[in-house]
Amino acid sequence: MKKISVVVPMYFEEEVANECYIRTKNVLEKISKYEYEIIFVNDGSQDRTMHILENISSDDKNVKVISFSRNFGHQAAVTAGLKYTTGDAVIIMDADLQDPPELIEEMIKLWENGNDVIYAKRKSREGETKFKLLTAKMFYKILDKLSDTKIPQNTGDFRLADRKVIDIINSLPEHNKFLRGLFSWVGFKQTPIEYERKKRIAGKTKYSLGKMIKLASNGITSFSTKPLKILGVLGGISVLTSFIILIYAIVSYIFKLNQLTAGWTSLMVTITFLGGMQLLSIWLISEYVGKIYDETKQRPEYIIDKKINID
Ligand code: UDP
Ligand code: MG
Repeated sequence: MKKISVVVPMYFEEEVANECYIRTKNVLEKISKYEYEIIFVNDGSQDRTMHILENISSDDKNVKVISFSRNFGHQAAVTAGLKYTTGDAVIIMDADLQDPPELIEEMIKLWENGNDVIYAKRKSREGETKFKLLTAKMFYKILDKLSDTKIPQNTGDFRLADRKVIDIINSLPEHNKFLRGLFSWVGFKQTPIEYERKKRIAGKTKYSLGKMIKLASNGITSFSTKPLKILGVLGGISVLTSFIILIYAIVSYIFKLNQLTAGWTSLMVTITFLGGMQLLSIWLISEYVGKIYDETKQRPEYIIDKKINID
């Protein structure tokens, strides 16, 4: 009998953990031709999340739990979950039920029809701040422009992937994975499925602004080196501009067009502009160098404290 795996990361999700389990289980029980497993990854929650997961998994052997020693972040939690899946198809889902588990049924149908990756595309997004909607839109636009890999817009990590794709993702040695990018990068037969993204059923977002910036920066630097090339173009433009200013000054001097001693403003503008450009460039380079540094340290992406129902 073929098997379906569902991976759900949880960070401070005591308010939703139980309902998430029940709704997911109901959907999977209904699709009776497959065995299933649900892997909950507790990403260092300090609330009752782990306690609830312990209870669920002691009654239901289809539920497996991985618990981290501290908070390692959403992408690390999903990465760990994927490593322990044993199913023929794997579904990644959020705990807050913004990704409706009921969509799994349709995903499985598309998978049975020969698709390898079925990614859920958000037709609409409920209960999200204007700021988040705007910044998310900008981020996906920029990513699309910069990245050589086509990464679908309005798509999070909610998706189904075939075993062969999961095996490849699991074998990638890179740290700080930007999963939604990697799932596109692998290729194979990909197909979208549209859905309306609902509000969180309870609790607040666990994606702080800092975490969002980290994800965005990681997404861009993992999938493009174009920002470094843009630095070159900007550098070229400013050198060219300074040449033009120089020629203008010489011509002015020779033909006595105007007195440039009153050039304080232009001087300040140039200096601050170039200074700013240089600092920005250094910051951008340091993002890439920092990434190389992180990879060379070879530290694990996460540390597991406890596993339940996993041999
Ligand atoms: N999450 C996690 N670790 C974190 C932050 C979030 O495992 O450090 C989980 C969280 O429990 C949820 C999923 O990632 O299952 C998506 O987070 P959330 O719903 O808070 O993000 P949003 O939907 O607001 O973007
Ligand atoms: Mg959410």
